[in-house]
Amino acid sequence: MTSTPFDSLRIGQGFDVHPFAPVGSDRVLVLGGVRFESGPALVGHSDADVIAHACIDALLGAAGLGDIGGLFPDTDPAYGGADSIALLALGVARVHDAGWRVINIDCTVIADEPKIAPHRAEMEQRLSATVEAPVAVKGKRTEGVAGLGGGIQCHAVALLTRFDQENLDQGNSEIAGQVEEGRSR
Ligand SMILES: [Zn+2]
Repeated sequence: MTSTPFDSLRIGQGFDVHPFAPVGSDRVLVLGGVRFESGPALVGHSDADVIAHACIDALLGAAGLGDIGGLFPDTDPAYGGADSIALLALGVARVHDAGWRVINIDCTVIADEPKIAPHRAEMEQRLSATVEAPVAVKGKRTEGVAGLGGGIQCHAVALLTRFDQENLDQGNSEIAGQVEEGRSR
């Protein structure tokens, strides 16, 4: 079978959910690396950034590297209150070390509050800079229908490509050869 640069693609899916902190909690809501100084915060061992966590699981799943709980155990005090953007950067480094590069990530945040749209550009900028590829963030309100008032969820899908220059060069030359063959017919 002829190999092409497109043989080495992997998709991964990630999901996360954290409950709202009780009223009066001193926690701060962080979504996609953006801090919200007002509104309900989320409970979690780290900063409870559901978007960053879903992205990490999507990346690790695509690369076959396990999951966020395995990489950053919530029993480890080192990750108490951790900045999840820093955890995402560590996850990306693991993916790179395993020979993969991120093509893109697409996220859906399910939250009745806060409104995601006014902060989307800032979240996308932070996340994209961290994974070195485009990250899209979409907000989905449920109007309470799904009974999700108790927290915020995020779903993410990530696409990776194997970073293998030799394979890429071989695939490109084979394609070039096929084009040449087509021309001479
Ligand atoms: Zn989480």
